[in-house]
Order: sequence, then structure tokens, then C-alpha cells
Amino acid sequence: MNKERRLIIAGNWKMNKTVAEALDLVNDLKRELANLKEVDVVICPPFTALSEVSKAIVDTNIRLGAQNMSEHNFGAYTGEIAAGMLKEFIVRYVILGHSERRQYQQESDECVAKKTRAAHAASIRPIVCVGETLAQREAGQTEKVVGDQLRGSLAGLSAGQLEETIVAYEPVWAIGTGRTATAQQAQAMHAFIRAQLAAAHGELVSRRVRIQYGGSVKPSNARELMGQPDVDGALVGGASLEVRSFSEIVKNSI
Ligand code: PEP
Repeated sequence: MNKERRLIIAGNWKMNKTVAEALDLVNDLKRELANLKEVDVVICPPFTALSEVSKAIVDTNIRLGAQNMSEHNFGAYTGEIAAGMLKEFIVRYVILGHSERRQYQQESDECVAKKTRAAHAASIRPIVCVGETLAQREAGQTEKVVGDQLRGSLAGLSAGQLEETIVAYEPVWAIGTGRTATAQQAQAMHAFIRAQLAAAHGELVSRRVRIQYGGSVKPSNARELMGQPDVDGALVGGASLEVRSFSEIVKNSI
């Protein structure tokens, strides 16, 4: 597939996999994906498995991501993990502002923006999630909600930092529901996001930002979704927990 930007497929394992289970999965993934060069492959295990998974993917093309991080560098923040701690395990990406964190941890756009800036300061590439709920879509507020999230969550970034940021468009109604946005719905929102970025930061920057789609991506819909001109990859939840489904998504995307 000839794309303007390099595809990036990331697996968000969420709160799944013990260290032993994570190693089983990563060893299987290595067999399937380690030599693949056409696309960036990122896996995001829970914090507890980062150390072992990091060792297991040395000398492969699979990159490591975390699912969250603190906006602070150190100090009295019980239960939090700082960018510098992630760097010890060669973490190169971090998912920020996932809808589950926005919903269960009340993370605001301002909080996500602070974390995004902290990630860049540590040279970790943030994957910043935005997306509307079903009620918001049905009320015709999709563009307003996503536009606001985008502006708020990316506030204060330089052009260079923005180009190294990945935006994940994840309609909340499609996450873990088996319900996927159609390729046309996804393309329309990705084009909207890129237009917003162009208006705020210029055409050149907007053309360099990679925008992932997330929400029940499966082997059967990956090809059509990734075939859309403004869809530059996928953030995969449930289907990233098994070697066959995740590796087929990656291979079907190429
Ligand atoms: C996600 O949580 O980021 C996600 C896209 O989940 P799923 O693929 O399971 O819908």
C-alpha cells in the first residue's frame, strides 16, 4: 500500500497479561512480525511487564510503548510512573488521554497536554487519543468535541513536537464494542483532524502528523480502514491480545 505517511500499528494491552503471559505473546509476535519493515509496530504492555518485554524485543523491529505516564518528573505522586522511569526500559511511545482514562480517572485535556509535553521533553512519542461518545455523535457534536480535545490536548507543542506526535482518533462508541466506524466515517474524521491541525499549525506540519484509527479494529476491517488516505495506522485493543489477530491486522494493513 502506497501511503503518504508510514503506517503505525500499536497494540494497547490494557490491564491484561502477567509477565509470563506477556512473554508468551511477545515471543509469538516476534516470530510473526520481527522482520517486518514496511510498518511501525508498537506494543503497549502494562507497566509490570515493560522490563521483561523490553529485553525480549531487543534487535527486532517491534517497539515498546506505555499506556500512561505522569506529567511530573519525580516526587510525591503515589502510584504514578515518570517518563524517566519508562526510558529505563527503552519505551519509545506512550498512550495519553485514552478514553478509559478520561472516563475513569477524569483526565482533562489540560492534564493530557501536560503529559504530552512531558513525554516530548523525555523524547518519548505520545499517542494522544481523542474521540466522541455515542451521545455526542447522535447530538451532532462530533466535530466540536474532537476539535476541542485536539486543541486542548496538544496545547503548547512546537511544530517539531507536533510532527512527532501521533493522534489516535478513537470514537468511544467503537471501543471494545465490536462496533467499528465505517471506513468513510473514519476517513471523514481523520480529514477533519488534519484540517484542524493545518489551520492551527500549517499545512506542512499537518501532512506529517500520523493519525491512527482505534475502535474494534480486526483483521477483517484493517485493510479497508488503512486504505483511507488520512488513516495512518491503528490503535488496537482487544485484537492485540492474541498473536494471530494482531499479526493479521499488521499484515493486512501493508
Ligand atoms: C482501545 O482501547 O484503544 C481500542 C481501540 O480497543 P478495541 O480495539 O478493543 O476496540
